[in-house]
Amino acid sequence: KPITTDMATLTMEVQKFARDKKIEIETLKIREEYRREFLGNVSHELKTPLFTVQGYLLTLLDGAMNDKSLRKKYLQRAEKGVERLIYIVQDLDMITKMEVGDLNLTFSVFNIIEVVQNVFDLLEMKADKKGIMLMFDQKYIKPVMVYADREKIQQVITNLVVNSIKYGKENGTTEVAVEDLVNNKIIVRVKDNGDGIEAKHIPRLFERFYRVDKSGARSEGGSGLGLAIVKHIIEAHEEKIYVESKPGQGSEFSFTLEKTK
Ligand code: ADP
Repeated sequence: KPITTDMATLTMEVQKFARDKKIEIETLKIREEYRREFLGNVSHELKTPLFTVQGYLLTLLDGAMNDKSLRKKYLQRAEKGVERLIYIVQDLDMITKMEVGDLNLTFSVFNIIEVVQNVFDLLEMKADKKGIMLMFDQKYIKPVMVYADREKIQQVITNLVVNSIKYGKENGTTEVAVEDLVNNKIIVRVKDNGDGIEAKHIPRLFERFYRVDKSGARSEGGSGLGLAIVKHIIEAHEEKIYVESKPGQGSEFSFTLEKTK
């Protein structure tokens, strides 16, 4: 770079340098704040199940162990807490990988119908417990071949169906549909007839740890990361995710995928 002797140019360069530095510092500050908030959220999420497990173990040690029926009940509840911890840690692991751009997609051609059926098989018991019927239109006997990361797409459908069960109406339904779109795309829809979501919450649903019901009373084992993971996976595929919801009537989450001929 040539040495500038002109005072005005020099001043401009110094000012530009200062501006750039300021932006750099602001960016670092935002990142630091983000990191701190993330850690705060993580420890908060871990605390609840940890205290639950500790509570049951302490009660057992305190004498409940001698009561045969209590012993089993409390051990089962402690185990549920541990299960919840495992889910949270798995989700954290996944979201961290995604956020550092470490989400390696492994593309292959597969039948999306089969993946929906797999998810239903895995979640049937969970749905049954709440009397929720998992429905998949019978017209999908024919395979629908897509090009995507099979495992990650199964995770997306799982998260959406799990939510439809968690926030669905008792004895309600979860309906999955696969439809053709233009331009060789398909759309997968997951629809429930549960609580629905107020419009003001919709823009924030896909944020990490965002929950409509802050009390956590209804958070039935979720990490608050499910939809953030879904969004990351769909966006890594360069596809789109949509949500439509009417409070009191239900919600529909849908996403697009690339079809193969
Ligand atoms: P969580 O572990 O809390 O379920 P998610 O990221 O999967 O975390 O979802 C974020 C929030 O979005 C939920 O806490 C819930 O308030 C809302 N939500 C997600 N899916 C549905 C649905 N099908 N019906 C109503 N609310 C939903």
